[in-house]
Amino acid sequence: MIPAHSRLKLFSVRASLAIVCTAIALTPALATADDEVNLYSARKEALIKPLLDRFSEENGIEVNLVTGKADALLQRLKNEGANSPADVLLTVDAGNLHRAKEAGLTQSFSSEIVEEAVPATYRDPKGHWTGLSLRARPIMYVKGEVDPAELSTYEALADPAWKGRICIRSSSNVYNQSLVASIIAADGTEAAQDWAEGIVANMARPPQGGDRDQIKAAAAGQCDIAIANTYYLAGMLKSDDPAEKEPAEKIAVFWPNQPGAGDGRGTHVNVSGAAVTAAAENKDAAVKLIEFLVSPEAQAWYAEVNGEYPVREGIEVSPVLAEWGTFKADDLDLIELGELNSAAVMLMDRAGWK
Ligand code: FE
Repeated sequence: MIPAHSRLKLFSVRASLAIVCTAIALTPALATADDEVNLYSARKEALIKPLLDRFSEENGIEVNLVTGKADALLQRLKNEGANSPADVLLTVDAGNLHRAKEAGLTQSFSSEIVEEAVPATYRDPKGHWTGLSLRARPIMYVKGEVDPAELSTYEALADPAWKGRICIRSSSNVYNQSLVASIIAADGTEAAQDWAEGIVANMARPPQGGDRDQIKAAAAGQCDIAIANTYYLAGMLKSDDPAEKEPAEKIAVFWPNQPGAGDGRGTHVNVSGAAVTAAAENKDAAVKLIEFLVSPEAQAWYAEVNGEYPVREGIEVSPVLAEWGTFKADDLDLIELGELNSAAVMLMDRAGWK
């Protein structure tokens, strides 16, 4: 039985949604009862549903799932405002989590379980979001074309020695914005500006496509270096499609900025994460779901199917990832990636990074 106020709320949500963007399929029956939680997820259903089912089984709380692209979900939350039926937002990149917080779409929550499971660097200091999985954005190179001894840091990729040899996607992509934000945090704005200009000068082609396309372009001989998130390469290697698997097999991972290389701060990492929405009517269930997602069992599964690293320590990584070896991750507080996002965007724009 849906309480009357919930029905009213759903009605107003539907009415306002009818006039806004239709990029996300409407889910017919998002309700709010104590034993239900409404989840907006930028993660595809196949990458999350089995976990949600498991959560429901264990806790008797039903999860209503709406999936969509990260930007579309943020826009939807904005449009719905206080009427949003969403309790939890699951999205990728600290930049997006920070945007949701800055837009007033999230609320703080505290949970000893989450605080014990997730290192502080991967959580919002005010408790508005927590990382759930970790992705690295290392340097990838074509085996046989690049001697890994030539590689060292992100900074060194701006050297003229790499002219015409680098494939990287556009500056409108939040992954690159976060990477540049990490360079600003490490080296300062001026040095980061010079770096971005150097990268633009070394691009093999104007930025186009996603991370997988950079890997494929490198494998096809268009460039020697691709910058991409690790899970894309993992996904390609696990694929049954030769058009994915074959290019991936030509590519190796290099972990930049390891101790002894440059400042040794570690390879740039980011998270996928979760937030309790500002409009959440069922905060207790929302927090319970997030606590479940950082449990050892959920962490192992979630990282494995997404080709990512767990945020929780002591969980084994999948065999594909294990083959790339261990690395030191940049220990920058990820909140800084959000805080430096607009500076990064402006800087890339000035550098002519398309
Ligand atoms: Fe991605």
